[in-house]
Amino acid sequence: MGTERSQGHASGRFAALDAAAVNQDGFLHEEHEAGLVTISSPADPEPSLRIEDGAVVELDGRPAADFDVIDEFVARHGIDLAAAAEAMALEPLQIARMMVDINVPREELVRIGRGLTPAALARVVALLRPAEMVLALTKMRARRTPSNQAHVTNRQDDPLLIAADAATAVAFGFRELETTVPVLGDAPCNALAMLIGSQAAAAGALTQCSIEESQELLLGLRGLTTYAETVSLYGTEQVFVDGDDTPFSKAFLASAYASRGLKLRVTSGAGAEVLMGAAEGCSMLYLEARCVKLAWAIGAQGVQNGAIEGINIAGSLPLGMAEAVAENLMVMMCGLESCSGNDTLMSQSDIRRTAHIMPIFLAGSDFLFSGFGSVTAYDNMFGPSNFNGDDLDDYLVLQRDWGVDGGLRTVEEEELIAVRRRAATAVRDVLHHLGLASYDDARIEQVVLAHGSKDVEALDPQIVVDAAAGIVERPVTVVEVVAALAETGHELEAERVMAMVHQRLRGDYLQTAAVLDEEMNVLSARTDPNDYRGPGTGYSLSGRRRAEIDGIRQARTRADLLGEFGRPLDGVAFRELGEAEPSSEPREVAVGVSPTFGAEINWTLSGLSVWEALRQVLAGIEEEECLGRLLKVRHTIDVGMIGLTAARLSGSGIGVGLQAKGTALIHRRDLPPLANLELLSVAPLITAEMYRTVGQNAARHVKGVPLKPLRNPYTEETIGARYHAATVGLVAIERAACLPGAPPVDLEVVR
Ligand code: CA
Repeated sequence: MGTERSQGHASGRFAALDAAAVNQDGFLHEEHEAGLVTISSPADPEPSLRIEDGAVVELDGRPAADFDVIDEFVARHGIDLAAAAEAMALEPLQIARMMVDINVPREELVRIGRGLTPAALARVVALLRPAEMVLALTKMRARRTPSNQAHVTNRQDDPLLIAADAATAVAFGFRELETTVPVLGDAPCNALAMLIGSQAAAAGALTQCSIEESQELLLGLRGLTTYAETVSLYGTEQVFVDGDDTPFSKAFLASAYASRGLKLRVTSGAGAEVLMGAAEGCSMLYLEARCVKLAWAIGAQGVQNGAIEGINIAGSLPLGMAEAVAENLMVMMCGLESCSGNDTLMSQSDIRRTAHIMPIFLAGSDFLFSGFGSVTAYDNMFGPSNFNGDDLDDYLVLQRDWGVDGGLRTVEEEELIAVRRRAATAVRDVLHHLGLASYDDARIEQVVLAHGSKDVEALDPQIVVDAAAGIVERPVTVVEVVAALAETGHELEAERVMAMVHQRLRGDYLQTAAVLDEEMNVLSARTDPNDYRGPGTGYSLSGRRRAEIDGIRQARTRADLLGEFGRPLDGVAFRELGEAEPSSEPREVAVGVSPTFGAEINWTLSGLSVWEALRQVLAGIEEEECLGRLLKVRHTIDVGMIGLTAARLSGSGIGVGLQAKGTALIHRRDLPPLANLELLSVAPLITAEMYRTVGQNAARHVKGVPLKPLRNPYTEETIGARYHAATVGLVAIERAACLPGAPPVDLEVVR
């Protein structure tokens, strides 16, 4: 954080606040005329539904004669008329309370949700407070087991890197992978690389390639992708018109995917209508309710919403984050799969972007992210996600902190390198076998070890364009891909890609909220329905899954710490002599060290060796013309008690206590144990100079002359988070070495 004063602020405090990351975000006041309103606008219609002869003749205050194309489609297909009378007769508040009532099962609410009009649905979810939303999400998501989706892209559209990164994403636990292109012509090559790479680390991850609709469908028909989710829906007619589309054309497209065994979700979310200047003054939530109803009407399996790119518009307004979660809840209320947003970087502030994910993170969702940027942010061709590849460790730690299944797991470096090599090699061999492109072994090694595309040499972009064109012209289908994998010795990938073809023929993964687990079981609302009914019900972590979540690679054991802090000293040792006797030498300062000092523990938390810390203290004593004496205090690990013990044996009555981890203090023999003259408590921040000052000041206490100032340094670092785990381990090691009742001994330095 900058501390320079910016112009315009007399107050240093305000200048510092201006420099905070959150102040790079934009914020707007609500203006409902322009649709700049999240939850509720005066232009939102009152909920209403009139049915005559089995047909809707009035929807949300509008008679059939005035229906726009969205009303028309929703009226025909988007409301379950069997449930509508009952659902619309309930007060919104009553339904909202049912959503958080553990005694009302999810299925009951889905039945009601499908019977509601868009305005009624929006009104219900708007009544929930954030904590209530978390409870409602927990109960209402379709699938019991949570999952996660990754973006896998790179700026060069490098197929080997796509493959390696797809394998990486699957190794980390993602079950759906989405790619796209900076260069449209590259898409077939990206899709092929994703398909193969996605099966290198484990079986069954679904893949998609998000591009222009007709080309995306073509890739799907050829078997180079296994799902699609970017069929976009909008909440006002004008935006459909601008896109030369209608809900009917979207329904046709959805059917085309389903007819070939491809899973299909639609995409909507706040802000699209505002950005197109066509929000008709309505709230984002109401317009999204229309989209959700359309999604159910056209037979989509689910919806990717939660504002998506529009999070930056929603986020600039009051209640933007709440609106995004309310969107997900409306999807769940209609019994659809929720792919729950969090896929767009919504703030420059780490605090704010983390807070954004928390409701979904704590509750779980069918897909917690509809695009976690599994690659590093600069390679994310969708734009940076709210969390990206460099945030993976943060995310894994959050899972562990809360005991939450966010869908991911730790990966060891060796395993990651191995799966990246498998994936890159398989794609290289297939491209070569099909005569589409040639890459040498050196390229594979670059890709395997790369963090992102900046780490691999930029090749002629025409290579990818030509390979992609070859895939289209041949045409290359999944059958040729499987054959090429088998013929180039990649049997495992061949089998797994073939298994994805079988799944399409079988169609079980066309059920709501379907994913394949790594044993190729379909987990869906049918086979794995969310049965949350309060504490002790619903999804819980299996023992195996808990071990995966708990076992982050950074966690260490006490044995690890012993190895680290017990590293031998170079050229110095300590020898215990006989029992220490009180001295009468008036210039003596006794330095008492802890039980493990120079034995089990040789390095302090600040990185200095115990010898260096001690040497500085002794030198400081000598500089002030006193005599240092070295003792090991064996019966206690408390630094105050160690210092006091030394003081009582010291001829001057002044002693220094020094723990192996580095904490130091000055004590006097007539003081109570918990009092002391000076204390350096923050061991990680103690420098050699400070130890020297401790020695000097101990001697100055002997002489009765003024002390040198000794202050802990300024710090903004998380000393506790960084060192407490090690401290606890080191204290336990001290405790084990402590000999209750054993007298202090004199200690000799052997060099
Ligand atoms: Ca997505």
